[in-house]
Amino acid sequence: MTMRISDTFTRSKQELPDAPAPVRMYFCGPTVYARAHIGNARPFVIGMWLRRWLAARGYDATLVHNITDINDKIYDAAPGASAELAASASQWYLDDTRDFGIGMPDHQPKASEVIPQMIAAIEELIARGYAYDVVGDVYYRVGKFPEYGRLSGQRPDQVEDQEPNPRKEDPRDFALWKANKPGEDTWWDSPWGRGRPGWHIECSVMAEELLGPAFEIHGGGLDLVFPHHENEIAQSHALGHRFAQVWMHNGMLRPVGHAKMSKSEGNIETIRDAIDRWGRETLLVFFLTAHWSKPIDYSGETVRAAEARKESLREVFRNPSEPGVQGEWERFAAALDDDFNTPEALAIMHSWRDHDLLRRGLDVFGLASLADEEAAPPEVVVLATQRQQARASGNFAEADRLRGEIADRGWTVRDVAEGFQLVRSTRAA
Ligand SMILES: [Zn+2]
Repeated sequence: MTMRISDTFTRSKQELPDAPAPVRMYFCGPTVYARAHIGNARPFVIGMWLRRWLAARGYDATLVHNITDINDKIYDAAPGASAELAASASQWYLDDTRDFGIGMPDHQPKASEVIPQMIAAIEELIARGYAYDVVGDVYYRVGKFPEYGRLSGQRPDQVEDQEPNPRKEDPRDFALWKANKPGEDTWWDSPWGRGRPGWHIECSVMAEELLGPAFEIHGGGLDLVFPHHENEIAQSHALGHRFAQVWMHNGMLRPVGHAKMSKSEGNIETIRDAIDRWGRETLLVFFLTAHWSKPIDYSGETVRAAEARKESLREVFRNPSEPGVQGEWERFAAALDDDFNTPEALAIMHSWRDHDLLRRGLDVFGLASLADEEAAPPEVVVLATQRQQARASGNFAEADRLRGEIADRGWTVRDVAEGFQLVRSTRAA
Protein backbone atom coordinates (compact mmCIF):
# COMPACT_ATOMS: atom_id res chain seq x y z
CA MET A 1 0.00 0.00 0.00
CA THR A 2 1.17 3.48 -0.76
CA MET A 3 1.68 5.68 2.22
CA ARG A 4 -0.30 8.94 2.40
CA ILE A 5 0.23 12.01 4.58
CA SER A 6 -2.00 15.07 5.10
CA ASP A 7 -0.37 18.08 3.48
CA THR A 8 -1.02 21.67 4.58
CA PHE A 9 -0.02 23.14 1.21
CA THR A 10 -2.59 21.26 -0.90
CA ARG A 11 -4.99 20.60 2.02
CA SER A 12 -5.20 16.98 0.92
CA LYS A 13 -3.52 13.65 1.56
CA GLN A 14 -0.43 13.32 -0.60
CA GLU A 15 0.99 9.96 -1.66
CA LEU A 16 4.61 9.20 -0.95
CA PRO A 17 6.58 7.34 -3.63
CA ASP A 18 6.66 3.57 -3.22
CA ALA A 19 9.33 1.91 -1.09
CA PRO A 20 12.32 1.63 -1.27
CA ALA A 21 12.30 5.25 -2.45
CA PRO A 22 14.05 7.80 -0.25
CA VAL A 23 11.83 9.77 2.14
CA ARG A 24 13.84 12.76 3.25
CA MET A 25 12.32 14.68 6.15
CA TYR A 26 13.07 17.97 7.87
CA PHE A 27 11.29 18.70 11.15
CA CYS A 28 11.79 22.13 12.71
CA GLY A 29 13.41 21.88 16.13
CA PRO A 30 13.45 24.19 19.14
CA THR A 31 15.05 27.54 19.74
CA VAL A 32 17.37 26.76 22.60
CA TYR A 33 17.38 29.21 25.52
CA ALA A 34 15.91 27.11 28.36
CA ARG A 35 14.97 23.50 29.01
CA ALA A 36 12.48 22.61 26.26
CA HIS A 37 8.87 22.16 27.35
CA ILE A 38 6.90 18.99 26.73
CA GLY A 39 5.06 20.58 23.77
CA ASN A 40 8.41 20.76 21.94
CA ALA A 41 8.66 16.98 22.22
CA ARG A 42 5.69 16.33 19.95
CA PRO A 43 7.33 17.07 16.56
CA PHE A 44 10.42 15.16 17.74
CA VAL A 45 8.38 12.08 18.71
CA ILE A 46 6.21 12.17 15.57
CA GLY A 47 9.25 12.63 13.33
CA MET A 48 11.13 9.75 14.94
CA TRP A 49 8.12 7.42 14.89
CA LEU A 50 7.46 8.20 11.24
CA ARG A 51 11.11 7.53 10.41
CA ARG A 52 10.96 4.20 12.29
CA TRP A 53 7.75 3.22 10.49
CA LEU A 54 9.06 4.22 7.05
CA ALA A 55 12.20 2.17 7.69
CA ALA A 56 10.04 -0.80 8.76
CA ARG A 57 8.11 -0.44 5.46
CA GLY A 58 11.35 -0.61 3.46
CA TYR A 59 11.84 3.09 2.73
CA ASP A 60 15.21 4.80 2.77
CA ALA A 61 14.17 7.31 5.46
CA THR A 62 16.25 10.23 6.69
CA LEU A 63 15.26 12.70 9.41
CA VAL A 64 16.87 16.08 9.96
CA HIS A 65 15.80 17.91 13.13
CA ASN A 66 17.52 21.24 13.58
CA ILE A 67 18.48 23.29 16.61
CA THR A 68 17.98 27.05 16.34
CA ASP A 69 20.88 28.43 18.34
CA ILE A 70 20.79 32.01 17.00
CA ASN A 71 17.64 33.97 17.84
CA ASP A 72 16.35 37.08 19.64
CA LYS A 73 14.98 34.94 22.46
CA ILE A 74 18.48 33.66 23.22
CA TYR A 75 19.98 37.17 23.32
CA ASP A 76 17.17 38.24 25.66
CA ALA A 77 17.56 35.23 27.94
CA ALA A 78 21.31 35.58 28.48
CA PRO A 79 22.65 39.08 27.80
CA GLY A 80 26.39 38.83 27.21
CA ALA A 81 26.47 35.04 27.34
CA SER A 82 24.01 33.94 24.69
CA ALA A 83 26.37 31.49 22.96
CA GLU A 84 27.09 29.73 26.24
CA LEU A 85 23.39 29.45 27.05
CA ALA A 86 22.59 28.16 23.55
CA ALA A 87 25.33 25.52 23.83
CA SER A 88 24.05 24.32 27.23
CA ALA A 89 20.41 24.35 26.15
CA SER A 90 21.24 22.42 22.95
CA GLN A 91 22.81 19.71 25.06
CA TRP A 92 19.78 19.63 27.42
CA TYR A 93 17.49 19.16 24.44
CA LEU A 94 19.61 16.30 23.06
CA ASP A 95 19.81 14.63 26.49
CA ASP A 96 16.10 15.03 27.24
CA THR A 97 14.83 13.80 23.87
CA ARG A 98 17.26 10.87 23.88
CA ASP A 99 15.53 9.70 27.07
CA PHE A 100 12.37 8.90 25.10
CA GLY A 101 14.31 5.83 23.94
CA ILE A 102 13.11 6.02 20.32
CA GLY A 103 16.49 6.78 18.75
CA MET A 104 17.78 10.07 17.44
CA PRO A 105 17.42 11.89 14.09
CA ASP A 106 20.05 11.26 11.42
CA HIS A 107 21.22 14.87 11.56
CA GLN A 108 20.71 17.62 14.14
CA PRO A 109 22.32 20.69 12.59
CA LYS A 110 22.75 23.94 14.48
CA ALA A 111 22.13 27.23 12.71
CA SER A 112 25.53 28.55 13.83
CA GLU A 113 27.26 25.76 11.86
CA VAL A 114 26.03 26.82 8.40
CA ILE A 115 26.46 30.61 8.35
CA PRO A 116 28.59 30.72 5.15
CA GLN A 117 25.90 28.74 3.28
CA MET A 118 23.22 31.14 4.57
CA ILE A 119 25.23 34.15 3.39
CA ALA A 120 25.63 32.51 -0.03
CA ALA A 121 21.87 31.88 -0.27
CA ILE A 122 21.11 35.52 0.64
CA GLU A 123 23.59 36.77 -1.98
CA GLU A 124 21.86 34.59 -4.57
CA LEU A 125 18.43 35.98 -3.57
CA ILE A 126 19.77 39.52 -3.98
CA ALA A 127 21.26 38.61 -7.38
CA ARG A 128 17.90 37.22 -8.48
CA GLY A 129 16.08 40.40 -7.41
CA TYR A 130 14.25 38.74 -4.49
CA ALA A 131 16.10 40.58 -1.75
CA TYR A 132 17.66 43.97 -0.97
CA ASP A 133 19.86 45.39 1.73
CA VAL A 134 19.08 48.40 3.89
CA VAL A 135 21.84 49.69 6.18
CA GLY A 136 23.15 46.31 7.24
CA ASP A 137 19.82 44.44 7.14
CA VAL A 138 18.72 42.34 4.18
CA TYR A 139 15.01 41.87 3.45
CA TYR A 140 13.10 39.45 1.26
CA ARG A 141 10.93 41.23 -1.34
CA VAL A 142 7.55 39.56 -0.72
CA GLY A 143 5.88 41.47 -3.60
CA LYS A 144 8.09 39.62 -6.09
CA PHE A 145 6.78 36.19 -5.09
CA PRO A 146 3.14 35.80 -6.24
CA GLU A 147 2.68 32.49 -4.40
CA TYR A 148 3.24 34.19 -1.05
CA GLY A 149 0.51 33.32 1.46
CA ARG A 150 -0.54 30.08 -0.21
CA LEU A 151 0.64 27.74 2.55
CA SER A 152 -1.09 29.72 5.31
CA GLY A 153 -4.08 30.60 3.15
CA GLN A 154 -3.63 34.36 3.31
CA ARG A 155 -4.13 36.79 0.47
CA PRO A 156 -0.75 38.29 -0.45
CA ASP A 157 -2.10 41.83 -0.03
CA GLN A 158 -3.34 41.09 3.48
CA VAL A 159 -0.22 39.62 5.00
CA GLU A 160 0.62 41.25 8.31
CA ASP A 161 3.85 43.12 8.98
CA GLN A 162 6.22 40.64 10.62
CA GLU A 163 9.14 42.90 11.43
CA PRO A 164 8.28 46.61 11.50
CA ASN A 165 11.02 48.81 10.05
CA PRO A 166 10.27 52.09 8.24
CA ARG A 167 13.20 51.46 5.89
CA LYS A 168 11.59 48.39 4.31
CA GLU A 169 10.22 48.74 0.78
CA ASP A 170 7.05 46.91 1.80
CA PRO A 171 5.76 46.20 5.33
CA ARG A 172 5.38 42.49 4.43
CA ASP A 173 9.09 42.04 3.71
CA PHE A 174 10.94 39.87 6.22
CA ALA A 175 14.56 39.83 7.33
CA LEU A 176 17.13 37.47 5.83
CA TRP A 177 20.04 39.12 7.60
CA LYS A 178 19.95 41.37 10.66
CA ALA A 179 22.63 43.92 11.46
CA ASN A 180 24.28 43.47 14.84
CA LYS A 181 22.59 45.50 17.59
CA PRO A 182 23.98 46.65 20.95
CA GLY A 183 23.69 43.83 23.47
CA GLU A 184 23.84 41.04 20.86
CA ASP A 185 27.02 39.23 21.75
CA THR A 186 27.27 36.87 18.77
CA TRP A 187 27.76 38.06 15.18
CA TRP A 188 29.30 37.07 11.90
CA ASP A 189 30.89 39.18 9.16
CA SER A 190 28.98 39.39 5.91
CA PRO A 191 28.91 41.49 2.71
CA TRP A 192 26.35 43.67 4.52
CA GLY A 193 28.44 44.11 7.66
CA ARG A 194 28.41 42.43 11.04
CA GLY A 195 25.20 40.62 11.86
CA ARG A 196 23.42 37.31 11.94
CA PRO A 197 20.88 35.40 9.83
CA GLY A 198 17.11 35.64 10.17
CA TRP A 199 15.30 32.61 11.57
CA HIS A 200 13.61 31.56 8.31
CA ILE A 201 16.73 31.46 6.10
CA GLU A 202 18.35 29.28 8.77
CA CYS A 203 15.83 26.49 8.18
CA SER A 204 15.76 26.78 4.36
CA VAL A 205 19.53 26.41 4.29
CA MET A 206 19.87 23.70 6.95
CA ALA A 207 17.21 21.59 5.21
CA GLU A 208 18.77 21.91 1.76
CA GLU A 209 22.30 21.49 3.06
CA LEU A 210 21.48 18.02 4.37
CA LEU A 211 18.61 16.87 2.13
CA GLY A 212 19.20 18.69 -1.15
CA PRO A 213 17.01 21.28 -2.95
CA ALA A 214 14.02 18.91 -3.16
CA PHE A 215 12.87 16.55 -0.42
CA GLU A 216 9.70 14.73 0.57
CA ILE A 217 8.42 15.96 3.95
CA HIS A 218 8.77 19.16 5.97
CA GLY A 219 7.32 18.94 9.46
CA GLY A 220 6.83 21.18 12.44
CA GLY A 221 4.22 22.55 14.81
CA LEU A 222 1.07 24.15 13.46
CA ASP A 223 2.25 27.46 14.97
CA LEU A 224 5.06 27.54 12.39
CA VAL A 225 2.87 27.71 9.27
CA PHE A 226 3.03 31.50 9.31
CA PRO A 227 5.36 33.21 9.04
CA HIS A 228 8.14 30.63 9.41
CA HIS A 229 7.21 28.05 6.78
CA GLU A 230 5.58 30.55 4.45
CA ASN A 231 8.93 32.34 4.40
CA GLU A 232 10.94 29.15 3.93
CA ILE A 233 8.89 28.40 0.80
CA ALA A 234 9.32 31.96 -0.49
CA GLN A 235 13.10 31.77 -0.04
CA SER A 236 13.70 28.32 -1.50
CA HIS A 237 11.30 28.67 -4.41
CA ALA A 238 12.88 32.01 -5.30
CA LEU A 239 16.20 30.15 -5.51
CA GLY A 240 14.57 27.87 -8.07
CA HIS A 241 14.34 24.88 -5.71
CA ARG A 242 11.28 22.68 -5.35
CA PHE A 243 11.94 22.33 -1.60
CA ALA A 244 9.40 20.25 0.37
CA GLN A 245 6.77 18.14 -1.37
CA VAL A 246 4.55 17.57 1.69
CA TRP A 247 4.00 19.99 4.61
CA MET A 248 3.18 18.02 7.74
CA HIS A 249 2.04 20.23 10.64
CA ASN A 250 1.42 18.67 14.00
CA GLY A 251 -1.36 19.95 16.26
CA MET A 252 -0.31 21.79 19.38
CA LEU A 253 -0.04 20.29 22.84
CA ARG A 254 -2.57 22.11 25.02
CA PRO A 255 -1.79 22.29 28.71
CA VAL A 256 -4.90 21.90 30.81
CA GLY A 257 -5.34 22.61 34.51
CA HIS A 258 -2.21 22.90 36.61
CA ALA A 259 0.18 21.88 33.84
CA LYS A 260 0.35 25.40 32.39
CA MET A 261 2.83 25.88 29.60
CA SER A 262 3.14 29.64 29.29
CA LYS A 263 6.23 31.19 30.74
CA SER A 264 4.30 33.97 32.48
CA GLU A 265 2.57 31.33 34.60
CA GLY A 266 6.01 30.37 35.83
CA ASN A 267 4.97 26.76 35.67
CA ILE A 268 6.30 25.21 32.51
CA GLU A 269 6.40 21.43 32.41
CA THR A 270 9.68 20.63 30.74
CA ILE A 271 10.45 17.42 28.84
CA ARG A 272 12.89 16.62 31.65
CA ASP A 273 10.27 17.05 34.39
CA ALA A 274 7.62 15.17 32.41
CA ILE A 275 9.88 12.16 31.84
CA ASP A 276 10.98 12.18 35.48
CA ARG A 277 7.38 12.42 36.66
CA TRP A 278 5.61 9.99 34.31
CA GLY A 279 8.32 7.86 32.71
CA ARG A 280 9.00 7.69 28.98
CA GLU A 281 6.60 4.81 28.25
CA THR A 282 3.55 6.61 29.63
CA LEU A 283 4.40 9.78 27.69
CA LEU A 284 4.84 7.81 24.46
CA VAL A 285 1.45 6.12 24.94
CA PHE A 286 0.03 9.59 25.65
CA PHE A 287 1.33 10.90 22.31
CA LEU A 288 -0.07 7.80 20.54
CA THR A 289 -3.60 8.59 21.72
CA ALA A 290 -4.09 11.58 19.38
CA HIS A 291 -3.70 11.90 15.62
CA TRP A 292 -0.55 13.92 14.92
CA SER A 293 -2.48 16.60 13.02
CA LYS A 294 -4.86 17.27 15.93
CA PRO A 295 -4.29 19.13 19.18
CA ILE A 296 -3.63 17.02 22.27
CA ASP A 297 -4.68 17.99 25.80
CA TYR A 298 -1.96 17.59 28.39
CA SER A 299 -3.16 17.28 31.98
CA GLY A 300 -2.75 14.98 34.96
CA GLU A 301 -5.97 13.31 33.91
CA THR A 302 -5.04 12.63 30.28
CA VAL A 303 -1.56 11.40 31.18
CA ARG A 304 -2.95 9.13 33.91
CA ALA A 305 -5.37 7.70 31.33
CA ALA A 306 -2.37 6.99 29.09
CA GLU A 307 -0.66 5.32 32.03
CA ALA A 308 -3.64 3.01 32.52
CA ARG A 309 -3.52 2.10 28.82
CA LYS A 310 0.18 1.38 29.11
CA GLU A 311 -0.51 -0.93 32.07
CA SER A 312 -3.19 -2.80 30.14
CA LEU A 313 -0.71 -3.39 27.29
CA ARG A 314 1.87 -4.62 29.80
CA GLU A 315 -0.74 -6.88 31.37
CA VAL A 316 -1.12 -8.82 28.11
CA PHE A 317 2.43 -10.16 28.57
CA ARG A 318 1.62 -11.40 32.09
CA ASN A 319 -0.97 -13.74 30.65
CA PRO A 320 -0.46 -16.60 28.20
CA SER A 321 -0.02 -15.61 24.56
CA GLU A 322 -3.02 -16.30 22.31
CA PRO A 323 -2.33 -16.62 18.57
CA GLY A 324 -3.61 -13.66 16.57
CA VAL A 325 -6.00 -14.01 13.65
CA GLN A 326 -4.75 -13.67 10.08
CA GLY A 327 -4.33 -10.20 8.64
CA GLU A 328 -3.95 -8.34 11.95
CA TRP A 329 -0.51 -6.93 11.12
CA GLU A 330 -1.83 -5.72 7.76
CA ARG A 331 -4.74 -3.98 9.51
CA PHE A 332 -2.26 -2.21 11.82
CA ALA A 333 0.00 -1.29 8.87
CA ALA A 334 -2.94 0.07 6.89
CA ALA A 335 -3.82 2.43 9.78
CA LEU A 336 -0.29 3.82 9.83
CA ASP A 337 0.07 3.97 6.06
CA ASP A 338 -3.10 6.06 5.87
CA ASP A 339 -1.89 9.35 7.31
CA PHE A 340 0.03 7.72 10.16
CA ASN A 341 -3.06 7.17 12.29
CA THR A 342 -1.55 6.26 15.67
CA PRO A 343 -4.81 6.29 17.71
CA GLU A 344 -6.20 3.69 15.30
CA ALA A 345 -2.98 1.64 15.51
CA LEU A 346 -3.13 1.85 19.32
CA ALA A 347 -6.75 0.66 19.35
CA ILE A 348 -5.75 -2.31 17.19
CA MET A 349 -2.84 -3.17 19.47
CA HIS A 350 -5.21 -3.13 22.47
CA SER A 351 -7.11 -6.00 20.86
CA TRP A 352 -4.03 -8.20 20.49
CA ARG A 353 -3.22 -11.09 22.87
CA ASP A 354 -0.47 -12.58 20.68
CA HIS A 355 2.79 -11.68 22.42
CA ASP A 356 5.00 -11.70 19.30
CA LEU A 357 2.55 -9.61 17.32
CA LEU A 358 2.04 -7.07 20.10
CA ARG A 359 5.75 -6.77 20.79
CA ARG A 360 6.33 -6.11 17.07
CA GLY A 361 3.66 -3.40 17.00
CA LEU A 362 4.89 -1.72 20.19
CA ASP A 363 8.45 -1.77 18.87
CA VAL A 364 7.48 0.68 16.10
CA PHE A 365 6.92 3.25 18.84
CA GLY A 366 9.84 2.35 21.09
CA LEU A 367 7.54 0.50 23.50
CA ALA A 368 8.76 -3.11 23.13
CA SER A 369 10.01 -2.72 26.71
CA LEU A 370 6.39 -3.22 27.86
CA ALA A 371 6.89 -6.90 27.03
CA ASP A 372 9.74 -7.20 29.51
CA GLU A 373 8.64 -7.70 33.08
CA GLU A 374 10.93 -6.04 35.56
CA ALA A 375 12.38 -8.61 37.95
CA ALA A 376 11.51 -7.97 41.59
CA PRO A 377 14.47 -7.42 43.93
CA PRO A 378 15.49 -10.47 46.01
CA GLU A 379 14.12 -9.10 49.32
CA VAL A 380 10.68 -8.68 47.76
CA VAL A 381 10.82 -12.26 46.44
CA VAL A 382 11.71 -13.43 49.96
CA LEU A 383 8.69 -11.58 51.41
CA ALA A 384 6.42 -13.08 48.75
CA THR A 385 7.76 -16.58 49.50
CA GLN A 386 7.12 -16.05 53.24
CA ARG A 387 3.61 -14.85 52.43
CA GLN A 388 2.95 -17.95 50.36
CA GLN A 389 4.06 -20.13 53.28
CA ALA A 390 1.87 -18.15 55.69
CA ARG A 391 -1.13 -18.68 53.44
CA ALA A 392 -0.35 -22.37 53.10
CA SER A 393 -0.38 -22.74 56.90
CA GLY A 394 -3.60 -20.75 57.23
CA ASN A 395 -1.97 -17.69 58.83
CA PHE A 396 -3.91 -15.13 56.79
CA ALA A 397 -3.23 -12.21 59.12
CA GLU A 398 0.51 -12.68 58.59
CA ALA A 399 -0.07 -13.12 54.82
CA ASP A 400 -1.92 -9.77 54.73
CA ARG A 401 0.82 -8.07 56.71
CA LEU A 402 3.42 -9.35 54.24
CA ARG A 403 1.31 -8.20 51.30
CA GLY A 404 1.38 -4.71 52.83
CA GLU A 405 5.13 -4.85 53.29
CA ILE A 406 5.54 -5.85 49.65
CA ALA A 407 3.27 -2.97 48.57
CA ASP A 408 5.36 -0.54 50.65
CA ARG A 409 8.32 -1.53 48.48
CA GLY A 410 6.37 -0.69 45.30
CA TRP A 411 5.28 -4.19 44.30
CA THR A 412 2.01 -6.04 44.00
CA VAL A 413 1.84 -9.75 44.69
CA ARG A 414 -0.68 -11.85 42.79
CA ASP A 415 -1.64 -15.46 43.39
CA VAL A 416 -1.40 -17.54 40.22
CA ALA A 417 -1.50 -21.26 39.45
CA GLU A 418 2.30 -21.66 39.70
CA GLY A 419 2.51 -19.79 43.03
CA PHE A 420 2.86 -16.02 42.93
CA GLN A 421 3.62 -13.26 40.48
CA LEU A 422 5.24 -9.94 41.39
CA VAL A 423 4.41 -6.89 39.33
CA ARG A 424 5.45 -3.28 39.75
CA SER A 425 2.68 -1.26 41.39
CA THR A 426 1.23 1.52 39.26
CA ARG A 427 1.15 5.09 40.53
CA ALA A 428 -2.61 4.89 41.10
CA ALA A 429 -2.36 1.60 43.03
ZN1 LIG B 1 12.34 25.90 11.11
